[in-house]
Amino acid sequence: MNNFYDRTTITVTAGNGGDGAVSFHREKYVPAGGPDGGDGGSGGSVILLPDNNLSTLVDSRYKRVYTAPKGENGSGRQKSGRDGANLTLRVPVGTVVKDKATGGVIHDLSDGLPFVLARGGRGGRGNKRFATATRQAPRFAKPGGFGQSREVTLELKLLADVGLIGLPNAGKSTLLAASTRANPKIADYPFTTLHPNLGVANISDGVSFVLADVPGLIENASEGAGLGHGFLRHIERCRLLIHVIAADEPDVMRANFDTICGELKNYDTELAKKPMIVALNKSDLLPEGDTELFSELTDYAGKSGFPIVALVQISGATGYNVRELLRLAAHQLSQIPAAPYFEADFVPADDFSETAAELSYSGADGEYTVTGPWLDRLLDRVNLDDTEGRAYFDTTLRRVGVYDRLIELGLQAGDTIIFYNWQFVYN
Ligand code: GDP
Ligand code: MG
Repeated sequence: MNNFYDRTTITVTAGNGGDGAVSFHREKYVPAGGPDGGDGGSGGSVILLPDNNLSTLVDSRYKRVYTAPKGENGSGRQKSGRDGANLTLRVPVGTVVKDKATGGVIHDLSDGLPFVLARGGRGGRGNKRFATATRQAPRFAKPGGFGQSREVTLELKLLADVGLIGLPNAGKSTLLAASTRANPKIADYPFTTLHPNLGVANISDGVSFVLADVPGLIENASEGAGLGHGFLRHIERCRLLIHVIAADEPDVMRANFDTICGELKNYDTELAKKPMIVALNKSDLLPEGDTELFSELTDYAGKSGFPIVALVQISGATGYNVRELLRLAAHQLSQIPAAPYFEADFVPADDFSETAAELSYSGADGEYTVTGPWLDRLLDRVNLDDTEGRAYFDTTLRRVGVYDRLIELGLQAGDTIIFYNWQFVYN
């Protein structure tokens, strides 16, 4: 089995902006028409939309690369290019977006609001926009900005108040079904549900909370049998854990208790600090009135060092003590602060858009070369045979810091700078 269902890596690229047009009005018998190059359209953005109807990331498992369309180029007669459409990806509420390389949190989608993951490039302005009283025929236009590109990991961390944990077959799904209207698969074999199930437990006095049935885990998950502990990320946001243990021989029960607690600790020591209610399940299988096993478990769990706030003997199948358990959970929740929100601690660099951060610089001893798509596109939009075009080119390079970078490399007056097919003498 794998963890793709609740964790996936995707690459998204927003569309580049369309280029502004260089064009002049032409009409028969009308000499020297003015500039009429229209603006480029903006590129489409890639947007993540939290959707309450989704509970897994399974859809984004099949596709790894998402690209939004670019904006259309502007054209003559002041015609603007059309904007590229936004690309919207639906993800479950509670998905956390992380930078793939560093693991830093970019955004937590538990607020239910759409999030722009990669912004489309701005459309470049056409030459019409550069006309002034003293410059009536601008022979340049701006290239469109680059769309942002991001490589991110999406992780689903469910928004549940209480997480049900326990070995496969302990009776978690049965308990969820007995406590809520959720309709989980109940299995008679130790392979549990692949997707976590959520349900709302309504307590009699109008109090309710969200309960999550987290697919089970098996210690040292053997190939194909266990689910590994990747699923534990779902309970990172839970405020309370209900540890379900099936009634069994005392030593089996103790070992089962240790297995789950060990997994919690291994995954994250914070998980091991969450308040825990221990529910001894399947008590209908015990001889009537038998409390020996329960005392045994109470003793053992009490010495475990885990923050156990209550123990209760239940039967998910017959409903015995289930309401009691839910009331205990509601009472505990009323004393625990709200679910953790994952604060962003990583701000992606504004890598492409409008800046020339992606250029490559090389050279020394009087000759320097600059290359990069941004520059290439700028050269396409500027008429360097024209004084105004050259002045615009020069100002633009200065503004984005190209000369500063070259000076760091050693550029001095009289040196040559090579931009693709063009050579300039710096002075
Ligand atoms: P999960 O793997 O923890 O989700 O366990 P399930 O809820 O799928 O239950 C596993 C098996 O135990 C199923 O055959 C259930 O019918 C059975 N079961 C669950 N709860 C009880 C209970 O309280 N008493 C008895 N006798 N059987 C139960
Ligand atoms: Mg189950």
